[in-house]
Amino acid sequence: MRAYILSTGDELVRGRTLDRNAGEIAAALSAEGLTVVGMTTAGDEQPELVAAMRRACHAADIVVMSGGLGPTEDDCTRSAAAQAAGVSLRRDPALEAWLRERWAERGLTMPRSNLRQADLPEGADAVPNAYGTAPGFRVEIDGSHLFALPGPPREMRGVLADEVIPRIRRIAGPGDQVVQTRTVETFGARESDVGERIADLMGRDARPRVGTTAARGTIRVVLHAEGPQVEVAALLADGEAEIRRRLGKLVFGVDGATLADVVGTRLLAMGTTVSCAESCTGGLLAGALTGVPGVSDVFPGAVVTYSNTEKTRLLGVPEELIATAGAVSEDVARAMAEGVRASFATDLGIAVTGIAGPAGGSVLKPVGTVHLALASAAGTTHRRVVLPGDRELVRELAVKCALDLLRRALQQPVGVVPRTTSREL
Ligand code: AMP
Ligand code: MG
Repeated sequence: MRAYILSTGDELVRGRTLDRNAGEIAAALSAEGLTVVGMTTAGDEQPELVAAMRRACHAADIVVMSGGLGPTEDDCTRSAAAQAAGVSLRRDPALEAWLRERWAERGLTMPRSNLRQADLPEGADAVPNAYGTAPGFRVEIDGSHLFALPGPPREMRGVLADEVIPRIRRIAGPGDQVVQTRTVETFGARESDVGERIADLMGRDARPRVGTTAARGTIRVVLHAEGPQVEVAALLADGEAEIRRRLGKLVFGVDGATLADVVGTRLLAMGTTVSCAESCTGGLLAGALTGVPGVSDVFPGAVVTYSNTEKTRLLGVPEELIATAGAVSEDVARAMAEGVRASFATDLGIAVTGIAGPAGGSVLKPVGTVHLALASAAGTTHRRVVLPGDRELVRELAVKCALDLLRRALQQPVGVVPRTTSREL
């Protein structure tokens, strides 16, 4: 069955309030095996809302909307639904009694304006709201079911789970259709590079449907399948295997795994200890590692050496090296990694030094230049990257690059240290 989601409110279309309902409704309907075909946000103007309702009901069998059920003039979901269904509004005596009771329970007399909330389009059923005073309703428009829910996210969530999902199950009838998504998380290549390697899997009619999304350096391959449970499980498993085969080491996990979790879990499983030395990331790498529960077994600590003096004093980076190579350089990154590894007596030592900007860049070392080094008993690996974005993004990506360097090293057979690499992200 096809579903459509509709949100209403001037505050949403003016950009003052972020829509917190549509995504949640979409996830709930998808979990029920419905195919969500679209989402629309309409303001509080009745003609626009009527048109949006008609379009949604034309496109789908089930429409779930939120907002516009309040007692004031600007809340026009009831009258818009009546107009879209081609019926008039009528006052529902049971609903009126229910509303009066809700107010009486709180020791208050119901204001006249709230009586409007007892109005329903002819032929509609009330949908009780145990979380507030605005009842919802279900009405048929153009042969489709439109469910109108209250706008406040907490009320919407409660009414959706308690009242609407059970009604949708009755409408959709029994079936073993499911809609499932699996995400394959990658790091280390651009979205276009990832896309090229899997281009032939991304056709509109492919099963599973394959797409990519990019957010702050992490490229996610999204696999989506609909159908009988067993078939969907097989499609997603085969799809994931094929994506892993194509993307190799770029893949670090599935379904929302983070680099820090993957690295932390691997360190713990292998009993490998690590310490870190940070300059431009100022402790963010240590922060990411300490976000992993139980990591204290393998992560004794870190140092933040922001000044050259402290790089020398705490990590033993030779003054002359900083003077000749510069604080942001391969040699200094290597010396920091080796210094921190020795000082904490850990299996691995990782270091980050870079130019986060906005100032401090040059032609040879543009803003975003970051040197990373990983020291182990087998030697020291180095990587230079030039990261995009503002100061915040450069620092965040530098942390991810450091975690990724660790992740790749932890996947190597023991004793093998990759050569120096240099690339742009
Ligand atoms: P309404 O039911 O339209 O009177 O909305 C009541 C309250 O819920 C208002 O404060 C709205 O800003 C809020 N609200 C309505 N729809 C949404 C939505 N989709 N996301 C977040 N807040 C909402
Ligand atoms: Mg509103």
